[in-house]
Amino acid sequence: MSELQKLDQEYIANTYARFPLALVKGMGAEAFDEEGKRYIDLGTGIGVTSFGYCDEQWVTAVANQLTALQHTSNLYYTEPCVKLAKLLCEKTGAGKVFFSNSGAEANECAIKAARKYMAEKKGEDCYTIITLENSFHGRTITTLAATGQEVFHKTFKPLTDGFVHVPANDLEAVKQTVSEKKVAAMMIECVQGEGGVLPLDPDYVKALSAYLKEQGILLIVDEVQTGNGRTGKLYGYMHYGITPDIISTAKGLGGGLPIGATLLYGDVQNVFTYGDHGSTYGGNPICCAGALSVIERLDDRFLSEVQEKSAFVFESLQGAKGILSVKGLGLMIGIETKAPAKEVLLKCMEKGVLCLTAKTKLRLLPPLNITMEQLNEALEVLKTVCAETEEEHA
Ligand SMILES: *Cc1c(COP(=O)(O)O)cnc(C)c1O
Repeated sequence: MSELQKLDQEYIANTYARFPLALVKGMGAEAFDEEGKRYIDLGTGIGVTSFGYCDEQWVTAVANQLTALQHTSNLYYTEPCVKLAKLLCEKTGAGKVFFSNSGAEANECAIKAARKYMAEKKGEDCYTIITLENSFHGRTITTLAATGQEVFHKTFKPLTDGFVHVPANDLEAVKQTVSEKKVAAMMIECVQGEGGVLPLDPDYVKALSAYLKEQGILLIVDEVQTGNGRTGKLYGYMHYGITPDIISTAKGLGGGLPIGATLLYGDVQNVFTYGDHGSTYGGNPICCAGALSVIERLDDRFLSEVQEKSAFVFESLQGAKGILSVKGLGLMIGIETKAPAKEVLLKCMEKGVLCLTAKTKLRLLPPLNITMEQLNEALEVLKTVCAETEEEHA
C-alpha cells in the first residue's frame, strides 16, 4: 500500500472505495499518475472537467479572477456572477438564476422554489413532489428523499416528507399519484445518470410535460449530469422540445470548480424574496469565472462536434465483441459489457484508459473537447479489453 493510501485510510472518512491510483497532473483529456504513466480520461471527475484538465482558456479565466478577488459573499455585487446568470438566461430562456455549490444544493433550491410557489398558489398542503424510481438527486436528507433508490435511504431515516417515486416511462403512474395527492412538482433526469445511463422515452417526456402543464404542476429537470453540453445540447431537456419550470445543474458547469445553479423559468422566476434562500459561497467569483468560460464556449458549432463524437462512439462500440448494448445521449454513454463492468474498468486502467461505472454498466463521460485521435485510441483499448474479458467469461 502506498503512503498516500495509508494516510487516506487513516484520516479520511470511509465513504469512498477509491481505485489504487493517485493522479498528480493532467492536460486536456490526459492525466498522469505518480510514476508519470499517461491515461486518457473518459470520466472527467464524474462529468465535471468539461474541457479536460487545465484547459488553457479556462485556466486563464480562473487565474485572472483569482488574482483580482476570490470571494465577497453575497452582501456585494460581483461581475462574474451577474455575467454568468445573464448568459445562462439568454441561452436557455430562463428568467432568473440562484447559485449554490453542488448538485444536491441546486436541487434543494429547486425543491424550495417549487414548494414555495405552490404553497402560495394552491395552499401549503400542496407539497408532494413526484420523482422517478432509479433516479439520483443527491445526498442531503431532502435530495435523498427525492432519490428513488432505497439503497441510499437505509440507516438515514426519517428523510424529508412529501416525495413519491413512480416508474419511469409510465404516465399512468403519474396520473394515479396526482389523483391521490396534492402534487406540487415532478422532478426528472432526462437521462438517468447514476441509475445506469438510461435516457427517458422522448414520447413520455413530451406527454408528461404537456400533462403537468395542463394540471398546473411544475416540471423540474435535474440537469446536474446532463447539463452544460454533456448530451450534445446545452441542456438535456432541449432534445425533447419541452420547457421546464425549473432546472438544476452543477457537475460540468464550473469545469472543475464547485458551483451549482438553479434556473427559474416563467412565473416561477419571481418566487423568492429577500431572505428566502441563501448561500455564503454561492456565486463565488472564481467559480463563476470558470463557469462563464465553459458556457461561453458551448455554441452550436461546438455542440454539433459533441454530437459527432457521440455518433463515433456509438458506431465504434455497437456490436463489438464483449459489448452487449450502448445507450446514452451525446457524450454521456452507458455500456453493458459481457464481463462485470468493474473488471473491464480495472483492465482499462491498467492499459491507460480511465472509465466510470453506473450500476452494472460501464459509463463514459469524456471531456467535451477530447480529440478524435484520443477518443479513437481510448475506444480501441476499451474494445480490446471487452473482447479479452468476454473470452474469460465465456
Ligand atoms: C451527481 C448528481 C447529483 C448530486 O450532485 P453533487 O454535486 O454530488 O451534490 C444530483 N443529481 C444528479 C442527476 C447527479 O448526477
